[in-house]
Amino acid sequence: MPIADCTRLSIHTITTKPWSLEQCLAGYQRAGVRGLTVWRQTIEAMGAKRAGQLIRASGLAVTALCRSGFFPARAAAEREQAIGDAKLAISQAAEIGAPMVVLVCGALPGMPLAQARAQIRDGIAACEPCARAHRVRLAIEPLHPLYAADRSAVNTMRQARRLCEEIGSPWVGIAVDVYHTWWDDSLEQEIAAAGAAGLLFGFHLCDWRVDTRHPLNDRGLMGEGCIDLPQIRGWMEAAGFAGWHEVEIFSDSHWARDQHAFLADIIAAYTARC
Ligand code: ZN
Repeated sequence: MPIADCTRLSIHTITTKPWSLEQCLAGYQRAGVRGLTVWRQTIEAMGAKRAGQLIRASGLAVTALCRSGFFPARAAAEREQAIGDAKLAISQAAEIGAPMVVLVCGALPGMPLAQARAQIRDGIAACEPCARAHRVRLAIEPLHPLYAADRSAVNTMRQARRLCEEIGSPWVGIAVDVYHTWWDDSLEQEIAAAGAAGLLFGFHLCDWRVDTRHPLNDRGLMGEGCIDLPQIRGWMEAAGFAGWHEVEIFSDSHWARDQHAFLADIIAAYTARC
């Protein structure tokens, strides 16, 4: 059954990339959206303190801060730098009232994936005490294998769950993005297993365009592609997930449109097709 209301709808600020934070807050509010996930680039110029003030004044809920990670690196100093950035993101999340930081874990062309995964595990483990101290959760987002060479060596729900188990902290879980996971023949079982372990932190929505024109910036609006969204949402709910439905669309073609019209289309697609 498609969703009839927007009470759990959240929009990633990257989805309306041409908008400033102020425009996002005003635009989302006008459209009846109650939550947003803040991308760090949206608040870079003003800083987290000012962003937190604006968000609190708007009354909108912050569902997450995106993103940090990129832990694998050849030099120890670079790995330390990535850990430092993740800790900074955690403090920024605390400042804007975001309950979690989404982690794009990283990968390095030429580095064996097993080595990259070990460095990712060590990097997240090094950030865990900071996350716990700030009461900000870390959500590992498995990325589609398309990105295994250079963006994330964590490519399946199973890998993400194993990583969470190895780290073993209630502050470390998973953000499930339909774009990255829809193809996985064990997705239903993995969502169930992650739910049973208390690891389902976030849920990201968009669609997979069959005639994808760009590996990064051509995600579809829900209904423009081939993902069975109600089915995956049903698996999430059956696994106990009761959090926000975050719409995250990178799209050169949608960014080129009037963002108010795009937002109206997002809401229509969400209520009809998710
Ligand atoms: Zn995502």
